[in-house]
Amino acid sequence: METKKIFELIEKEKERQTKGLELIASENFVSEEVMKAAGSVLTNKYAEGYPGKRYYGGCEIIDQIEEIAIDSAKKLFGASYVNIQPHSGAQANAAVLLACLKPGDTIMGLDLAHGGHLTHGSPVNFSGLNYNPVFYKVNKEDGRINYDDMAATARREKPKMIIVGASAYSRDFDYRKFREVADEIGAVLMADISHPAGLIAKGILIDPLPYCDIVTTTTHKTLRGTRGGMIMLGKDFENPFGYKTLKGEVKMMSQVIDGAVFPGTQGGPLEHIISAKAITFIEALSDQYLTYTHQVVKNAQVLSKALIERNFNIISGGTDNHLMLIDLHNKNITGKAAEKALEKADITCNKNMIPYDDRSPFVTSGIRLGTAAVTTRGLKEDDMIKIADFINEVIADPENKIVIDKVKKEVNAMMDSRPLFQW
Ligand code: PLP
Repeated sequence: METKKIFELIEKEKERQTKGLELIASENFVSEEVMKAAGSVLTNKYAEGYPGKRYYGGCEIIDQIEEIAIDSAKKLFGASYVNIQPHSGAQANAAVLLACLKPGDTIMGLDLAHGGHLTHGSPVNFSGLNYNPVFYKVNKEDGRINYDDMAATARREKPKMIIVGASAYSRDFDYRKFREVADEIGAVLMADISHPAGLIAKGILIDPLPYCDIVTTTTHKTLRGTRGGMIMLGKDFENPFGYKTLKGEVKMMSQVIDGAVFPGTQGGPLEHIISAKAITFIEALSDQYLTYTHQVVKNAQVLSKALIERNFNIISGGTDNHLMLIDLHNKNITGKAAEKALEKADITCNKNMIPYDDRSPFVTSGIRLGTAAVTTRGLKEDDMIKIADFINEVIADPENKIVIDKVKKEVNAMMDSRPLFQW
């Protein structure tokens, strides 16, 4: 097999991304500069450790890059501490759980079928295999978090850690309520803002840093950066778990987290990715990015309203952020079949469990849509109305090749001559 084959396939994937409508809520398109840094010579370098404290020589330049990434992230989120090294969101969460818990400890997260993430206690993930997970839920009636049930579950189960955050929840979180409950039972409160991070950074959604002990995120969803993760503290504090330095002093939480990332759960950091993260944060500090995040939310709200007008059932009746979850029961189609039919029309999204779903995670009764990626491609409110029409036509007649081909042509025409990334 020739290496040429891989480059041919990369070109094909670029063409697929270019001509299609990307509605997967966790995806986005990065700038040329982010891409360039991620594909740079920094991939050649080992740099175990942290700036100024490495286990390898030749790290002088790497240190400067990692410092810029850390400082830019601190500025963007108003954090006092950032660990920029987690290879992904799952790695960031693994490190925080390692830092704060012992195997078998109880953790409480949002139920996976209600919008939570695998790393918040799923039985097939390290978080559910190594720890004892319990879950809070959303209301059946309005699709919003049931805060009374959350508090009651916490009082009954006494989790050592409470995780706020989701992969498929279209509303903001009341972090203050989580804080009150965590204080009452003495739990560590962690927010995972992987999805709405960019909207939080620009002040569109509530900032969890003043309320939560630890905040994790990915860098590639609404943040519009390279794939990766990171961990932040609003304020550093003495770790409550008894970890001490060699001199017998109580370790600060930042020191415990650093140790949990390296050597706790990772080896050499991906410095090419860290340089791309630095560029991501510098871009996100700009006014153009602020305009982008406002457009993401406007687009999501227009799309959800247009879908409701076409008799789609949006969980919780709308969205505060970049995503929405659709219950397809009244359309007589499963999430799996809807995802497949839309893909044939060059519209990509993902099947998703809806709260209290009666179908398995492989079939599901819903789909999740997001506007972060299409907004990067320059689509605006008018386009959202057209997208609602495309989705409506395909879902109404998912086996009809004539309809699918017609919609596909319209999708390709809409995306024609639009660069993958534009400010
Ligand atoms: N946390 C949340 C809330 C997520 O939605 C995701 C990814 O979808 C992750 C963590 C994991 O991120 P990654 O895929 O980078 O490991």
